[in-house]
Amino acid sequence: MATAVLHYMAAAVTDRGRKRSSNEDAFGYSVEDGVYVVCDGMGGAAAGEIASSLAVDEVLRLVTANGHNGHAHLPDSAEQAILAANEAIYSRGQRNRRLSGMGTTLVALAVQESHAWVLNIGDSRCYRLRKDRLEQLTVDHSLVEEQVRIGRMSRTEALRSPLKNVITRALGTQCRVTPDIFELEAEPGDLFLLCSDGLTRELSDPVIESLLAGDRPLEELCARLVDAAKKAGGHDNITCLLVRAA
Ligand code: CA
Repeated sequence: MATAVLHYMAAAVTDRGRKRSSNEDAFGYSVEDGVYVVCDGMGGAAAGEIASSLAVDEVLRLVTANGHNGHAHLPDSAEQAILAANEAIYSRGQRNRRLSGMGTTLVALAVQESHAWVLNIGDSRCYRLRKDRLEQLTVDHSLVEEQVRIGRMSRTEALRSPLKNVITRALGTQCRVTPDIFELEAEPGDLFLLCSDGLTRELSDPVIESLLAGDRPLEELCARLVDAAKKAGGHDNITCLLVRAA
């Protein structure tokens, strides 16, 4: 039996939150090219905003250009785009002292029919909701996650740790970077969530799972997530990008 052709739809919201004066998160996507990206920038002054929007723009521009050439294998083209975005941010930081050290997290979903790839650097996450069960697909590149993995810290301690902001991999801060790449098969009804830590710091996985339950429009689900994160404190910028397979 031939596998059914999957179609994708998406919606996203980014919000400054309740405490920050600017929004250093950025997102972008192209349903046509099957690429979806969320970035969370860091750096002094406006550098974080520049890094995250540069990363999103570069990745989308390069994947889209490759897609239109019609010969690139999507996960390779997404990985190449991420490496090129890294170089673009890094060299701009080198050229301009005011932007020196700027960087960004990146989480991307690339889909081609039922094949899906998740790529990440830093602590922005990708989750999949399948049959009302939420599963985190990415592993945070953060100091506390590493401590949890080697058994030196519990999950609860990690959430409370003053070091929870420290990420161990970022885009644009070094001349080279390696994203993690996860390959999976999408099924009809799968819902992918790409988000910045402004969402996951405020809301636990069970809360996110319950907010995403039910077959509601994606715009409504995005608004529910952002509203809940703001009610829970809204300490940081909040971004969520939802992609549904049908
Ligand atoms: Ca953040």
